[in-house]
Amino acid sequence: MPAAIIDGKAVAKELRGKLEKSIERLRTSHGITPGLAVVLVGDNPASRVYVNSKKKACEALGIYSEEHVLPGGTRPEVLAELVARLNRDPRIHGILLQLPLPAGLDAAPFVEMIDPEKDVDGFHPVNMGKLLAGGDGFVPCTPAGILELISRTDLPLKGKKAVVVGRSNIVGKPVSILLLSAHCTVTMCHSRTEDLPGECRTADILVVAIGRPEFVKGDWVKPGAVVVDVGMNRLEDGRLVGDVEFEPASRVAGGITPVPGGVGPMTIAMLMKNTYEAALKRLPEGNRLPG
Ligand code: NDP
Repeated sequence: MPAAIIDGKAVAKELRGKLEKSIERLRTSHGITPGLAVVLVGDNPASRVYVNSKKKACEALGIYSEEHVLPGGTRPEVLAELVARLNRDPRIHGILLQLPLPAGLDAAPFVEMIDPEKDVDGFHPVNMGKLLAGGDGFVPCTPAGILELISRTDLPLKGKKAVVVGRSNIVGKPVSILLLSAHCTVTMCHSRTEDLPGECRTADILVVAIGRPEFVKGDWVKPGAVVVDVGMNRLEDGRLVGDVEFEPASRVAGGITPVPGGVGPMTIAMLMKNTYEAALKRLPEGNRLPG
């Protein structure tokens, strides 16, 4: 039987619908409009596309958004001053520094300057630490979206074997921790892993985030496994493909995310959710959801 398609677009739409209502309630009951500031340095075309989609998503949900575009040659002090100003701005609940920064600007010190309470990307060491230690910080958007998709399949996570291919700070590491917290037995693989196909074949849940087009083959997939393909690779012929060979894998897997239309839409939905939750933190009652 072919795999069930895990429709990230549909799940993201459902989440955005709920969020829109919650945001409206927050505005009418407490007079708070969630605000997101997106900072883009330089003219990386892919980053420009991502920033535009974030802006559109904010507009659709009633989130106030600001875009700050700085030239590629911006001096570190100028970027630092902007982050400090946004940290102080009461209209702004979430700050997103679009990565990567241009060559010559190391992202880490600027990510660390963002107020952890406004770090809706979840990349600040405080939020990363809370993820590891089990606190209630912001969870990075793509990993949070992946867990949401997996939790909607029929597969109970508890006790299952999860294999995560890729160990980046933005996807592989946080998604491994989330799966561990959901009581999976987790194996993290990377470019030096011996017998990657063998590791993948043990997975009840296989998450692949490596940025290599169709690298994971269909016969690496355990029959019935849930496969989450995070990769987004543009081929020379213009097609967008994932890190997993979709057709052969979908003949074996129990469920699989398509590319596009799988993990991608969830990332923006989770960013919107984090921004809403950052605004909730401002309520005098704490984090409580409004009526
Ligand atoms: P990085 O380049 O930061 O990390 C890639 C990881 O893959 C590294 O850990 C690397 O291992 C590992 N890797 C590379 N080649 C191999 C290989 N041949 N075998 C095993 N492991 C390998 O990538 P990201 O995590 O940022 O992104 C991964 C993919 O996910 C990209 O296609 C990206 O576009 C996509 N992505 C999609 C998002 C979405 O919203 N849909 C969001 C974020 C990313 P090592 O550490 O040993 O070098």
